[in-house]
Amino acid sequence: MTGESTGQQRRAVVVGAGIAGLTAAIALRQRGWQVEVLERAETVGPAGSGLSLWPNGLRGLDALGIGMAVRDRATAATEAGMRDPSGRWLARTDIAGVRDRYGDLVMIHRTELFDILCGALGEGRLRLASAVHEVEITERGIRIRHSRGTSDADLLLGADGINSTVRSLHWPDALPPAYAGYTAWRSIVTPPAPVHSGGETVGRGERFGIGPLGDGRVYYYGSASLPAGASSANGELAELRRRFGDWHEPIPALLDATDPATLLRHDIYELPPLDTYVRGPIALLGDAAHAMTPNLGQGANLAVEDAITAAALLDRYRDIPSALTEYDRVRRTRVEPLQRLSRRMGAALQMSWAPAALLRDAIMRLTPVGPALRGLAPVVTWEPPD
Ligand SMILES: Cc1cc2nc3c(=O)[nH]c(=O)nc-3n(C[C@H](O)[C@H](O)[C@H](O)COP(=O)(O)OP(=O)(O)OC[C@H]3O[C@@H](n4cnc5c(N)ncnc54)[C@H](O)[C@@H]3O)c2cc1C
Repeated sequence: MTGESTGQQRRAVVVGAGIAGLTAAIALRQRGWQVEVLERAETVGPAGSGLSLWPNGLRGLDALGIGMAVRDRATAATEAGMRDPSGRWLARTDIAGVRDRYGDLVMIHRTELFDILCGALGEGRLRLASAVHEVEITERGIRIRHSRGTSDADLLLGADGINSTVRSLHWPDALPPAYAGYTAWRSIVTPPAPVHSGGETVGRGERFGIGPLGDGRVYYYGSASLPAGASSANGELAELRRRFGDWHEPIPALLDATDPATLLRHDIYELPPLDTYVRGPIALLGDAAHAMTPNLGQGANLAVEDAITAAALLDRYRDIPSALTEYDRVRRTRVEPLQRLSRRMGAALQMSWAPAALLRDAIMRLTPVGPALRGLAPVVTWEPPD
């Protein structure tokens, strides 16, 4: 019976309670599905970092009815752009222009976003400490085996992140995630003096980004071109001070305010494009389908888009495989160019060779604001399907 709409409540299992999984579960519930979310971890929500939500992602959250709650707990971007390590602006983002032309752009603490998503999902839908290890398609549907037992479903959404188990089980030929060539540190701090100005500072093979979160808190990240798997002999905070300690304010102040225990470090990987995001009644969403480098700040926004699109198409089409075939077409067309764009941006922004970095900075200084603003259109003008 896999895939046929029967008039009975249709059953979906969502693997992974990240942004993709939670938004998909909310969207399906709102459309009358019986939903179970299986999450490997014992708690939900990654700690200690912020997230940029763009007009496209916020439109998706609006479609779920939680966009205003997110805006209320987020901070509207005020000032952003690119600087050099001395603090000189290379390019300014016309934030008012982005807002007028495309919609809101905000920064939010991930924990706050997860609070809102879990509240919208409601009680009793999320099973923690339930790591999925087997997914079998049978005559009668899908059988999912996990560390807490067995679940059955008509639809399975694999939203289990870049190292997806669902993908490894049903996409055996998929290439593994590839190292992008740089590592990233992230933290949230409360510096003694308020920071209102965000943006990114580019050096040679190094970058530092700042995103004020409101209530005096500031999210920051640093990145450096390094081999995969490296760690810093004197500790990660010492390494950040060595690299960025003499860059413009407030970077040294942010580092001074950092508790080393809360500093995250992750090597940046991306997933080589898949031939398809769909196998019969199984679909991949978010990073499981298309993990990309974070240079566009779009990974979570696209995860929200995936979820909204999948739920809408599953409503529109009679049977699940047809809906998912359309999901695959629509989403790969949307995501693949952005994955490539993000990779190219990373290569340019992480340049180590001085002449190339100087040329890059000159191009940024000379690029007028108008075309830069118009260039955002393909990224942020996405609209939810009906
Ligand atoms: C440095 C950095 C900065 C970023 N900044 C931004 C930004 O500003 N804006 C933006 O939009 N995006 C940003 N991103 C990207 C964004 O974080 C991701 O695209 C997004 O979080 C992906 O969400 P997801 O739900 O697909 O996957 P995940 O968040 O990885 O969630 C997957 C979930 O599945 C669970 N899971 C895994 N395996 C199993 C299993 N076998 N069984 C059950 N559960 C399982 C995991 O525990 C996890 O909870 C950034 C990424 C990085 C690395």
